[in-house]
Amino acid sequence: MKRKQSISVILFLFLFVMSVAGCGSDKREELNRKLEEGEVLLSQEKYDEAVIFFEGLFNAHQDSISIMEKLDYSRVMSASRQHLDEALRLLEEEHYQEVYEALSGVSSIDEKGQLEKDKIFSEIRSVYVDRAEKLSDARLFKTAMKELDEYLAFVTTDFEVEEMKTDILAKSMIPLEPVVEEVKKIIVINPGHQAVQDKEKEPLGPDSTKLKNRVSSGTRGVASGVYEYVLNLQVSLKLRDELVKAGYEVIMTRTTHEVSISNRERAEMANEKGADLFISIHANGSENRNKKGIMTIYPSKENPYVSHLSDEFLKLSTVLHEEMIKASGAESAGVQAMDNMVTLNWSKVPATIVELGYMSNNEEDLLLNTEEYQDKLVVGLVNGINRYLDEKTP
Ligand SMILES: [Zn+2]
Repeated sequence: MKRKQSISVILFLFLFVMSVAGCGSDKREELNRKLEEGEVLLSQEKYDEAVIFFEGLFNAHQDSISIMEKLDYSRVMSASRQHLDEALRLLEEEHYQEVYEALSGVSSIDEKGQLEKDKIFSEIRSVYVDRAEKLSDARLFKTAMKELDEYLAFVTTDFEVEEMKTDILAKSMIPLEPVVEEVKKIIVINPGHQAVQDKEKEPLGPDSTKLKNRVSSGTRGVASGVYEYVLNLQVSLKLRDELVKAGYEVIMTRTTHEVSISNRERAEMANEKGADLFISIHANGSENRNKKGIMTIYPSKENPYVSHLSDEFLKLSTVLHEEMIKASGAESAGVQAMDNMVTLNWSKVPATIVELGYMSNNEEDLLLNTEEYQDKLVVGLVNGINRYLDEKTP
């Protein structure tokens, strides 16, 4: 090679290298600017745009590893967010199974997406747990279990939900206590007589031509001087208070002496109220001053009005009689059949007449007018009423 030639070649090479180097530095500058532009898109989470942007850039610079990396990252993030959006849409529609499927496409490098995914998971979990709790409270145990099983199918493990299932199962084993609306038994107490007797007549029983005074005068204590209607009301009010305490609904035919209610009207009061029991409280009187003791009265089988109720009335009369004697220690004056008692003859509900004792007997009259003895009689009456109603209802 000639020297001149070699100089020109060197010069040419020099100029070429210089020009390439100069040109190269321009291109690098432009590429960096482009990469920064793409970086902005990524920081703004515009991944779809970033994909298009880096694809364009990559086509021009296929040898650039950093562009390839950015392009890959953009593609992963773009797909991840599409899955997340899809999951949110499905969540709105409550398609939980599909939400889980969509969320599986959220990339592990998508940190924000992963946080969102966890939020959605716990949202779905609480939907199922809340439903199951409500169902369990409503004792719809099977359906509650189904809800939790559906949830557990989405997730591999959830110990708390497994535990909840165990609790629900245990709860389902407990038999439901029967919720029985408490219907109180109705007891009508009729304190016999009133301050002023009523000599107007009324039929002895339904369809009867036989007549009887509307309200007779009753007896009077030979030693105490107390009128029967006073004693009757005293004991009846005590009985009322104890029966109310025992949970009964009590209706009084009278609570004062100044009334005018016939015996038939008193019985009809009990009928109208649909009473479970109708108890008339009286005290006895006899010309035989030695007579003492407790008597109860029921209609006989030959009674023209309520013979069909004779057995029931006898049962009630017997139970009360027994319990009163037990509680008071009184003598027995018997469980007597009588067919001339208006309150019994007009009654359509179990009824009895209780004769507390004889006011014609000095000793018993005084006893009947003591609080202590009255309390004992009331205990006997309450026991008898409880027993009769217990034995009656299965
Ligand atoms: Zn009487």
